[in-house]
Amino acid sequence: MRLDDPMLDSIAREARDAWLVEAVRHQIAYMRAKIPYWRQRLSAAAVDEHGIESLADLARVPILTKDELRALRPAALLPEESRPKLQISRWTSGTSGQPTVNFWSESDWTALVATTSRMLARQSPMTHATAFNAYSQAHVTGPLYNGALRRLGAVVYDRSQHPEEFFPTLAQTEMFDFDTLAIPAQTVRGKSIGLANLLDDNPTFLARHSVRWWIGSSGTFGAETMDRVRREGVEVISDLYGSSEFAVFAISCPESHGDYHVAQGHVLVEVVDQAGTPVANGQFGRIVVTHLRGMDEDGHACAHGGTQILRLAAGDGATLLDEPCACGLTTPRLRGVRRVGTTG
Ligand SMILES: [Zn+2]
Repeated sequence: MRLDDPMLDSIAREARDAWLVEAVRHQIAYMRAKIPYWRQRLSAAAVDEHGIESLADLARVPILTKDELRALRPAALLPEESRPKLQISRWTSGTSGQPTVNFWSESDWTALVATTSRMLARQSPMTHATAFNAYSQAHVTGPLYNGALRRLGAVVYDRSQHPEEFFPTLAQTEMFDFDTLAIPAQTVRGKSIGLANLLDDNPTFLARHSVRWWIGSSGTFGAETMDRVRREGVEVISDLYGSSEFAVFAISCPESHGDYHVAQGHVLVEVVDQAGTPVANGQFGRIVVTHLRGMDEDGHACAHGGTQILRLAAGDGATLLDEPCACGLTTPRLRGVRRVGTTG
């Protein structure tokens, strides 16, 4: 199965899960072979990847906390063989403790860009977008939206590197024509100014530019901002969800506001209880994420070569919905995503 195949999100759940189980087994074996830290940790927990027959069997693999991640030297999670192939590295904001860093190899980055494109392609209101990308290139979302939109055939104009107070986003956008805008809902330091803040300064900004598609991430979009944006002529709102260690891995459902469809393959996303066991449909739990697959030059899935992370609890929780959705997707959904802390 290719990571850019949209079928991955609409096939029967059993078929996708079987593919994910196979990928997990492969990636755990890779981590064990390449990273002393994981070799030790997996042995201490008596994990045998050959015995993993369903995603529920992952319950035996201990959850990695943010504190444990912070305590490791970043290169200790990098396979020796992929170090010369590292392409992108980005640090977390550090709002909840010392920043951590994640490295993506060339093939990891291709997988992330392809998966983000896969999520966006389904929602695109036009064949070839012309986008202004307001996300900072210093944050992972900047280069990611550039790559994902270009993969869809879009023209992408990136925001300048200057600080907002020196060269405001609003002034920059006046220099371009575009029908798509990548920007978060609210201003996030180091990431981007927010659309709501931009509209406060210039209420007719979207209508004046005839923006039809708003793409964003970093916090779920509020209903008030969404209504305001629609009144200004925006046809489609694509709200992506993720965390800094993994970038994005879910997208808003067009049928059910507040639900996010998980896109897997480049990562594995689970919702688990306090013991680390995946929760049942309708239950609330912590969101834990694993780096799973890269994508090679031929488009085939391969080992994730960059930072090796297995079952990290990145700090959010959600209610899991894993029945097929009215929008046609069969992927699990996250509902009511909220911060639950990094150690709980
Ligand atoms: Zn849906």
